[in-house]
Amino acid sequence: MVSVLRFRGAPNKVGGGLAILRDRLAPDLAFTLTRRRFGARGGMEAEKTTYTFGPYKIDRSEVFYSTPLSYAMVNLKPVLPGHVLICPRREVKRFVDLSADETRDLWLAAKEVGGRLERYHEASSLTFTIQDGPQAGQTVPHVHIHILPRKRGDFEKNDEIYDAIDEKEKELKEKLDLDKERKDRTSEEMAREAGEYRALFS
Ligand code: AMP
Repeated sequence: MVSVLRFRGAPNKVGGGLAILRDRLAPDLAFTLTRRRFGARGGMEAEKTTYTFGPYKIDRSEVFYSTPLSYAMVNLKPVLPGHVLICPRREVKRFVDLSADETRDLWLAAKEVGGRLERYHEASSLTFTIQDGPQAGQTVPHVHIHILPRKRGDFEKNDEIYDAIDEKEKELKEKLDLDKERKDRTSEEMAREAGEYRALFS
């Protein structure tokens, strides 16, 4: 049975005074302040913040790993088991607009998450990919690294994975006309998957 839920389509703002302050400050200064407040690793339990992904509000139950500058969430339309996204907390459209601290933090998060998910899914390789800008295939205007655990034979030709990512996005675009009903994975399914991954970091 497919549950039909409202898609989180309404553009929204990050809530909470600290998050608003962080968004208004220069990223590097915000990083220093946030680290002072939450410590070097941050942590889900320490925060009451919300997450945004371009125009979408992301429920905390779908986020399984976070640092002061980045977060990792499960995918609404995974191409393979373990296909997740790593995003900067700040809403930044293009890779070039990330600060040095955000860039470092994002890739360190990707390294940490990739390693654990590869083992968890008993995979033997990882695809890390960024579609940076609409002509490169980016559909959500918020920097994100796709991480996909890879196994022998998962795609007949290795690079077909990029076509698969594009195909899923097209399907998503057709279904998610932002104000229409959502018929993809349920929030419960996504929260369950995120819960499994969260346990890998505790
Ligand atoms: P790209 O086309 O590179 O911008 O990738 C967008 C990715 O975001 C795709 O893998 C989508 O399945 C995924 N996606 C879109 N909206 C959401 C959402 N609300 N929550 C989680 N993943 C999403």
